[in-house]
Amino acid sequence: MQTHILGSPRIGSHRELKKACEQYWAGKTSLTHLLETGKNICLQNWKLQQEAGIDLIPCNDFSYYDQVLDMTLTVGAIPERYQEIASRVSTSELDLYFAMARGYQKEGLDITAMEMTKWFDTNYHYIVPEFQKNQEFKYFSKKIINEFISAKQAGINAKPVIIGPLTYLLLGKEKEEGFDKLDLAENLLPVYIEILKELENHGAEWIQFDEPFLGLDLSEKAKAVYASVYQEIRKQFPNLKLILATYFEGLKDNLSLAVSLPANVLHIDLVRCPEQLDEVLSAIPQTMSLSLGIVDGRNIWKNNFEKSLDFIEKTVSTIGSERVFVAPSCSLLHSPFDLDLETNEQTLSPEIKQWLAFAKQKVYEITALKKLASGKADYQALQQFAENKKALDNRRISSLIHNQGVKDRVEVTTEDDAKRNSPFSIRKEDQHKVLQLPLFPTTTIGSFPQTQEVRTWRSKFKKGELTAEQYDDLLKKETERTIRWQEEIGIDVLVHGEFERNDMVEYFGEQLSGFAFTQNGWVQSYGSRCVKPPVIYGDVHRPHPMTVYWSQYAQSLTQKWVKGMLTGPVTILQWSFVRDDQPRSVTCKQIALAIRDEVNDLEKAGIRIIQIDEPAIREGLPLRKSEWQQYLEWAVEAFRISASGVQDTTQIHTHMCYSEFNDIIHNIADMDADVITIECSRSQMELLQAFADFKYPNEIGPGVYDIHSPRVPSKEEMIHLLKKAQAVIPAQQLWVNPDCGLKTRHWDETEKALIAMVEASREAASTY
Ligand code: GLN
Ligand code: ZN
Repeated sequence: MQTHILGSPRIGSHRELKKACEQYWAGKTSLTHLLETGKNICLQNWKLQQEAGIDLIPCNDFSYYDQVLDMTLTVGAIPERYQEIASRVSTSELDLYFAMARGYQKEGLDITAMEMTKWFDTNYHYIVPEFQKNQEFKYFSKKIINEFISAKQAGINAKPVIIGPLTYLLLGKEKEEGFDKLDLAENLLPVYIEILKELENHGAEWIQFDEPFLGLDLSEKAKAVYASVYQEIRKQFPNLKLILATYFEGLKDNLSLAVSLPANVLHIDLVRCPEQLDEVLSAIPQTMSLSLGIVDGRNIWKNNFEKSLDFIEKTVSTIGSERVFVAPSCSLLHSPFDLDLETNEQTLSPEIKQWLAFAKQKVYEITALKKLASGKADYQALQQFAENKKALDNRRISSLIHNQGVKDRVEVTTEDDAKRNSPFSIRKEDQHKVLQLPLFPTTTIGSFPQTQEVRTWRSKFKKGELTAEQYDDLLKKETERTIRWQEEIGIDVLVHGEFERNDMVEYFGEQLSGFAFTQNGWVQSYGSRCVKPPVIYGDVHRPHPMTVYWSQYAQSLTQKWVKGMLTGPVTILQWSFVRDDQPRSVTCKQIALAIRDEVNDLEKAGIRIIQIDEPAIREGLPLRKSEWQQYLEWAVEAFRISASGVQDTTQIHTHMCYSEFNDIIHNIADMDADVITIECSRSQMELLQAFADFKYPNEIGPGVYDIHSPRVPSKEEMIHLLKKAQAVIPAQQLWVNPDCGLKTRHWDETEKALIAMVEASREAASTY
């Protein structure tokens, strides 16, 4: 039996890589310092695994920005627009790489970055490879070899991790018409062969090919290309030991393909799809070993040793221990680095902490599991087993987790609770009578600029340098100023500005029971950007109102409507580490009921318009289409539960950032928000088409300007977009607003843009 891990977190235990990259980009540190930081992180990861006793230690799992971009540079798929930078002698490889990741605006050049998108169903984002019709590849970056050599110098014959050729192609985007990216396999394969040759020459014995697409819906053509590509690799390298890594989903209908590929080891994700083990065991050929992904690489809970040992024993008794590998479900990239760094008992109590394992602890779980399963358990492993059992038992019955009142309430929630009193056609009339809004009403998505000043107040307050009263006063002044300014420029539905919030999920989590927080639980989101998701450990409920104070205060300042601002249940779930001891749908329903209480309290406090943001509803979609319906059912229901406790006259808004809704538009309509605001400007209103085709009945605010850029749009541009919107959606249904919240913008550009936006709306209305 052997142990291995698929990849390590690489941002550094104290986000050293983030800091070094950002300093390097700002010109404040040298390339040498950055490279040293990277190398140290690799060494730290290798040393940890060596000490823990991992058998196969990966290399090339490190990246300065993104592993897919690494592969793009390795196979030389450098888009034409970077050729000029690439050809300069002064450009280092890393500078070219960062230019591709982030764009390049210097020395008279203005080159856009490559596109970024979500890595399967994680919150990690990768840089999308761009392919042309006759895309050529050449062996360009030697990063893989360099990392392999550095591991060797550290005394490790490492297992290079490479994105498999099929997954690499399937992740990419065809930038022109008239070809299929799968046909590029023929051009790509020779480069992979060159890389493998060089690795073999340097003494590599193992190669891990990441092929998560084997867990997704594949076309017949893709399956055929899988077979031919891997047969060719095998033919060229009869002696290399190949690990085929699948994760995030079960193999399902691709099982026969996966076991027919000439790999030495097949890795499967038994956290996501534990039920596949039996099938895999009966299909796997004698020549293939099985890597059991049993330690969750994507969540922070301690492994259930007893359960894992059952999996291992079953496998050992079927195929023999020499064909078994013990592993995490996927790369540990998606786990925070080290639980030992969590020392704040206020936000993470010792009782909760004992239930958790971050990447470092997971590495030790894996080596302990091997020892326990192979009957070679030393004192340390036995002790770890005892502790594991104790922690899990404690978690099962802890009073911190279980709240019978919450469970009972979920039980008695009915379909009626997920329904407004009347259909939209009736609510609409009632709302128009009460709200008296003009045609093309203007509003914003919620947040106004979180200036350095506002953030300083918060950090001073947290450090005790400002009293609660002082902090509150400052926020009130900022809120009042924002209300006055919106009145002045003539916005119709105002917002309070969200100055009191650090983050749209954390702010709510901090006030709900059942949530804990880490100090250092950072996970890479993209490039140097990290997120620190809250931990949902227990039954969720709302001990007290969360936003009423600020909404009520803001409303007291003005005769205009102030919109209450909440984060929806699906988004809170999606952007947290979620408990694994009950279905996600149940946790989501608990959050929905808590938000419902807040919505009802806002209404009681006189707030007539309430927005429940659900930017993450689309990204929660399962990887396999066959599972979409089930997810959408509970996700939409959760939103409706949160929104349906109010009277017909109260107007519920929702907001979503990514708005490619073509295939789920009827589910979006099913949410039955009175108004939905969406991101549309970058697509020139193209994304509205789905709503038009569906004859979406409720009101819509398609964003008329892109808030992701400091650029101030002109009134004319926005009128142009509004006209485009009117061409497909009746004017009576339209709202006018930016694409998203304004917290990342500066006041200067925000003021100019919103003044122009209000003018655009007035001008559009005057033509009626
Ligand atoms: N109300 C939030 C804001 O304005 C919405 C953010 C989001 O959609 N991601 O910041
Ligand atoms: Zn948004």
